[in-house]
Amino acid sequence: TIYAVATARGRAGVSVTRVSGPNALEALRLARAMETSSPSSTASTSRANDVDGRLRYRAFVDPNARAGEPPLDVGFVATWRAPRSFTGEDVVEFHGHGSVATQRALLDALGTIDGFRHAEAGEFARRAFLNGKMDLTAAEGLADLLDAETEAQRRQAMRLTANGTQRAMYERWRDELMTCAAHCEAVIDFGEEEDVSGDVVERDVLTRATALRETLRKHLDAPARGEMIRRGVRVAIVGAPNVGKSSMLNALAGRDAAIVSPRAGTTRDVLEISLELNGYKVIVSDTAGIRETDDDVEKMGVARALERARDADVLVALADASSDASSDAARDALSTVDVTGKDVITVWNKSDVIDAARARELDARVDDITRRGGDARVVSARDGRGVDDFIATLARVVARKCERTSVEGDDDDALAVTRSRHRVNLTSCVAALERAARRAPVPLELRAEDFRLAARALARVTGSYDVEDVLDVVFRDFCVGK
Ligand code: GDP
Ligand code: ZN
Repeated sequence: TIYAVATARGRAGVSVTRVSGPNALEALRLARAMETSSPSSTASTSRANDVDGRLRYRAFVDPNARAGEPPLDVGFVATWRAPRSFTGEDVVEFHGHGSVATQRALLDALGTIDGFRHAEAGEFARRAFLNGKMDLTAAEGLADLLDAETEAQRRQAMRLTANGTQRAMYERWRDELMTCAAHCEAVIDFGEEEDVSGDVVERDVLTRATALRETLRKHLDAPARGEMIRRGVRVAIVGAPNVGKSSMLNALAGRDAAIVSPRAGTTRDVLEISLELNGYKVIVSDTAGIRETDDDVEKMGVARALERARDADVLVALADASSDASSDAARDALSTVDVTGKDVITVWNKSDVIDAARARELDARVDDITRRGGDARVVSARDGRGVDDFIATLARVVARKCERTSVEGDDDDALAVTRSRHRVNLTSCVAALERAARRAPVPLELRAEDFRLAARALARVTGSYDVEDVLDVVFRDFCVGK
């Protein structure tokens, strides 16, 4: 039986301590009805009635306390009976005052009960998964929900954890794969005399498999929208040295939109900030200036900058408005970065030091880029001119990247792959499916095996791995042995 504070540690109005496990109801020893204060009134007869998930006002007491000691705390106690609880086990919750001292006193008292120990990180959710209260995608969604900082992250996490839309989709595909495997096996096991022609079955299975492969490919090829929403859209500011990349990042950090401060490990300069734009999390990073160099230290900086640029979803190509040399230098260096699938925003900085003629020239170039469907801006990081317009442009680019690309209805967001764990398994699912459905003449045994492998890859995503399923499918679809 495990226990832990479920709310944040430290000062708060209320603190919830959760107990879960076979002996969880033992924790009710610590709860005493308020009307009477004599120890004999903790009658076990009342306990059975208290197990209904309702909050009851109680004193929290240490069963070993000396007479005359005040209670540890007062608050509410609720109890749920297995399997109708979050973990699927017996659960008791103490809703007390949120102070360090009351939390510690209650935890200490719980620790004195036989068979009780403090829970490990994530252990309640893990038990919920093991007891079938949720699948892996829901568990991951729950973790995402607890981490959610932006509206888009919240919505995506809720879809995973509450709706189960994604799990349902994967299970549907898995059923389809098991059906294919079962049909192949039925031909192998029962031959063609049982109303089943091998050729017909094979053709039918291949048609199904091809359709499913297309669906899976689309799901995988969709821009990594789900992952992007979850981890944040990565934006890298790149350009030659001294064009004002760090100044630009500081200008962004100075806006109200900045929600997170520098990442650990970067002590002096702000190298990375998080913003919330249109409800999406955006991580903007500064990079070293990109240019040809013989200096070893600078070379490392340039290499890191190029790596950042490669990892980014959006590139802000920054140039000095007062000199064309800087934009040429940056363009040359950046030519090694594959910009496929990335959005590039071209920005000329230092507009405060250019004359009217140059300003007109740059405006014309911005217009030209915009007309061709690109994004460009002229700004001054120093006096802030154009920075809001740039932020608006960035917000639009980010929204375009994250928003649904199709109009398949409300559940479209649920179709996004949200983690690389899913991506890895889905990719091996497609690979197996491709083998299973190849056109060349292949023994049905091999096809069946590949369908099974493909289904197993999907089962790994949801955490359900049940080889017995194929039998159900055989009976459902073929009525073998009727
Ligand atoms: P980085 O090397 O690209 O990161 O460039 P920095 O942000 O360090 O800036 C290089 C120099 O340009 C510094 O002296 C800044 O003060 C200056 N600078 C940055 N932005 C502007 C701007 O908008 N206008 C002017 N006049 N100077 C700027
Ligand atoms: Zn810099």
